[in-house]
Amino acid sequence: MSSVLFWFRDDLRLHDQPALQAALASGATHLLPVVCRPAPDEATPWGFARVGAHRRAFTAAALRGLQGQMLTLGNPLLVCQAPPTTALPPLAQAVGATTVVCEDIAAPYEQAEVAALRAAGLQVRTVWHSSLLPPSLMPWSVDQLPGVFTTFRQKVESAGITPAAPLPAPTQLLPPPDVSASVLQAMGAGQGAAAIRQPAPPQCSDARSSFPYGTPTCDGSEAAALAHLAQYLARKLPHGYKATRNGLTGLHYSSKFSPWLATGALSPRQIYADLKTFESDHGANDGTYWLWFELLWRDYFRLLHLQYGAALYRARGLSELPPAPHNPRGFDRWCRGETGEPLVDAAMRELAATGYLSNRLRQVAASYLLYDLHSDWRSGAAWFESQLVDYDVYSNQANWLYIAGRGTDPRGGRRFNPTKQAQDHDADGSYRRMWGTA
Ligand SMILES: Cc1cc2nc3c(=O)[nH]c(=O)nc-3n(C[C@H](O)[C@H](O)[C@H](O)COP(=O)(O)OP(=O)(O)OC[C@H]3O[C@@H](n4cnc5c(N)ncnc54)[C@H](O)[C@@H]3O)c2cc1C
Repeated sequence: MSSVLFWFRDDLRLHDQPALQAALASGATHLLPVVCRPAPDEATPWGFARVGAHRRAFTAAALRGLQGQMLTLGNPLLVCQAPPTTALPPLAQAVGATTVVCEDIAAPYEQAEVAALRAAGLQVRTVWHSSLLPPSLMPWSVDQLPGVFTTFRQKVESAGITPAAPLPAPTQLLPPPDVSASVLQAMGAGQGAAAIRQPAPPQCSDARSSFPYGTPTCDGSEAAALAHLAQYLARKLPHGYKATRNGLTGLHYSSKFSPWLATGALSPRQIYADLKTFESDHGANDGTYWLWFELLWRDYFRLLHLQYGAALYRARGLSELPPAPHNPRGFDRWCRGETGEPLVDAAMRELAATGYLSNRLRQVAASYLLYDLHSDWRSGAAWFESQLVDYDVYSNQANWLYIAGRGTDPRGGRRFNPTKQAQDHDADGSYRRMWGTA
């Protein structure tokens, strides 16, 4: 008997799961599927929880869904209340495994986790599968990524590079190895629903939420993710996407794919495949094209991480600008939605109350912190990391860098004038009234 550990990270799904398929094909006879939950009190250097209540609740729902699927396949998910570096080496030893297979995540915190497992003597095989287009398909080497998104997109399109078809979910897993109860107890690990240790939804009960994640339609599970994608297409919403995507309230002005993409409950290649079928059945237009366009932004920020790695996390980013000073009082008012700028305050109240914020208001709020409150962009990125239900390490870091003018964009930073943004996007003031700032 030989065992392999499969460590679920930001890929909590069974459909289109190349990393899991690699573990199944590894030659092992037994598979131990594991997930590690961060401690609720793990703090950022800025003094608040790294994973706030919204994201914890949404991820817990994803885990409940995954646990149900794994039980059906006869191999329950082991949920560890410990960081991977604490949990995985002794678990591997207990089941006689030397190899861990997991998703490749090209960000410093996540890479340090893998490095620590390797230092503990485990072989870790990482599989890249979070982008639409694999880096290996790009017509340039990793360090030759175009510095401007438009050039990147045009090169991808002119080379005719398209995503591979998504893989079907496995219908069978390898059997689980025996793990003694005493080992599980020592690891703070469990295999039942109770092991997820999170109150069942509804957690987000705010009726104003644009993504009410505690409701069945916005549940975190893979089944809900696929159902959301199906209904989005059945309602023919892609056709209007380009015209509505700058909306501020409601479920349908934008796709709301991001929360499920962030946990991995939904694969981008599944979205792409279904979008292409939709175009064949109902026609392509600028709305369907723009969804591809936005998903390419998501890929671009992933590739940027492969190229620059930890340099993206420096105070100066990729620029030669001096580090921005931090403004603790301004930052605190910004987080609480009490800056006195009505549109920004409304946005920050929405974020704290619901864990979701439109793209437009993410830009306006980020710009205000950087250019009006003159605070360190990394504090804002950390707050978004803590609050966003759809936190994605690549998209969050790179969007903040972009607005701060510390990424690759030669045009410098992006300042948004909140008064003009309010006129353009909340002309009747209804959004600001909804959040009590007008
Ligand atoms: C400061 C800031 C921080 C952000 N942090 C995150 C984050 O942590 N996680 C996250 O997923 N997105 C982040 N974004 C990008 C964007 O705001 C969200 O992807 C989008 O609002 C999610 O809603 P949606 O799925 O309805 O998007 P849609 O408008 O429907 O777009 C479809 C998909 O395209 C991708 N996408 C769209 N815009 C962007 C973008 N600017 N950058 C990268 N991908 C994009 C997302 O995967 C999204 O789900 C951030 C943007 C800013 C300005």
